[in-house]
Amino acid sequence: MSTASIQHYINGQMSAGESGQHQAVTNPATGQVTGQVALASQADVATAVAAAQAAFPAWADTPPIRRARVMFKFLQLLNEHQDDLARAITLEHGKVLSDAQGEVARGIDIVEFACGIPQLLKGDYTEQVGTGIDNWTMRQPLGVVAGVTPFNFPVMVPMWMFPLAIATGNTFILKPSPLDPSPSLLIADLLKQAGLPDGVFNVVQGDKDSVEALLDHPDVKALSFVGSTPIANLIYERGARHGKRIQALGGAKNHMVVMPDANLDKAVDALIGAAYGSAGERCMAISVAVLVGDVADTVVSRVAERARALKVKNGLEQDAEMGPIVTAQAHQRITGYIEKGVSEGAELVVDGRDFDTSSTGKECSEGFWMGGSLFDHVTPEMTIYQEEIFGPVLVCVRVPDVATAIQLINDHEFGNGVSCFTESGSVAREFGRRIQVGMVGINVPIPVPMAWHGFGGWKRSLFGDTHAYGEEGVRFYTKQKSIMQRWSDSIAAGSEFAMPTHK
Ligand code: NAD
Repeated sequence: MSTASIQHYINGQMSAGESGQHQAVTNPATGQVTGQVALASQADVATAVAAAQAAFPAWADTPPIRRARVMFKFLQLLNEHQDDLARAITLEHGKVLSDAQGEVARGIDIVEFACGIPQLLKGDYTEQVGTGIDNWTMRQPLGVVAGVTPFNFPVMVPMWMFPLAIATGNTFILKPSPLDPSPSLLIADLLKQAGLPDGVFNVVQGDKDSVEALLDHPDVKALSFVGSTPIANLIYERGARHGKRIQALGGAKNHMVVMPDANLDKAVDALIGAAYGSAGERCMAISVAVLVGDVADTVVSRVAERARALKVKNGLEQDAEMGPIVTAQAHQRITGYIEKGVSEGAELVVDGRDFDTSSTGKECSEGFWMGGSLFDHVTPEMTIYQEEIFGPVLVCVRVPDVATAIQLINDHEFGNGVSCFTESGSVAREFGRRIQVGMVGINVPIPVPMAWHGFGGWKRSLFGDTHAYGEEGVRFYTKQKSIMQRWSDSIAAGSEFAMPTHK
């Protein structure tokens, strides 16, 4: 079987780079190596930064409405090529095709938002702040900015970043995950077809070394990162030391509270989809069910029944509900957590390690397969409660009341997403107010905010001041300038030595 050579995209062209280093890309459903992705050296990163730097002045000077027109054209092309992108995601990530289509659609939302950039960049103006003097603020681009993205959303997470970065007049370097790098090149091609000038959007493939080269390069003014918490923390500190603007979104452990008055049919449906969808490899996946009062036995037995019946198959098969795990290493890590849960005394109700691969589909026996797992009687001291597993493992914690549920969640180091299923307006209101988590769902298991609201967690789920996309995204990629202006008719003769006031 021939393997693809997955290259960088610099200054409007594919480039093999000069490092000579590669990493294998694997289809997780079959276990077959399908490509070799180039790994950028420091010199490759410098070439991309130089191209982006050269493209910056003309792009920053392009009127926002013309930048928006490129985005409109890109939007049209994205809509035409949605299924190509989704298929490319499934082949390297493994998630089921309908889920990959959903990922592309949520990315497209941000491009639609970026199409409104003239309105978003409109400054504030105050006439006559003093006699004959006006003051206004405008937002200007930063220069070359970079985005470093995780394997689990190879289209949507880059689209949290580059549409707004580019629409606001910056030039951009994307460093995708080396596990699923191909969609980034499809995106580059569509941007070129949309009329984006060369050098405005670039892709450098690679891993740790290329990220460090971006962080250390003096011409990279800002970097957005999405990935695991330990790396987010390192990136935030290293970038901040160099005086860069950094937004680093990290890991998660998202809880879903089921109150005794919840609609249990809907709550169980939500738990199954949010815990096992995308094999639990979502930063907004529900990985902890917090079962309040006497609902626990019913919820555990109903989730267990559904988890055993999950259709775990090659994501390209029509009826697949869950695909494979992304890599053999990730499979091993998740298996290790299941062993740890058992040794720490949690009750393993459904064991995904028992999974029989004969149902996965053609040519899949070498893929990285496991079924959904379910633990009950998990306590806060256990490793499987504290750490992010990032796999199809749901842990259940039993608590007596909503106050204990809120305290449990607030004590966790992560604060990305949370959900509460209840039919009570007052419980929902108090929950929303008291919970120390950035994104809250009431009877919504995965409350990913819409394009114009912005995405971001609290605590160790986000390092930095601003959330991704939405108006905070516009602020992250621009700096504010204030201009105060008057003309000679309104300038009094003589020098003033006192602090100017609004006369
Ligand atoms: P990861 O942290 O391993 O990798 C993320 C990116 O960092 C990749 O591009 C990778 O090449 C790069 N990288 C890896 N090691 C590095 C190092 N030492 N120095 C610099 N860069 C390095 O994450 P992943 O496994 O690709 O993705 C899963 C993680 O991402 C999970 O923890 C998940 O919760 C998190 N995530 C968070 C969000 C969010 O919005 N908060 C969204 C998606 C994923």
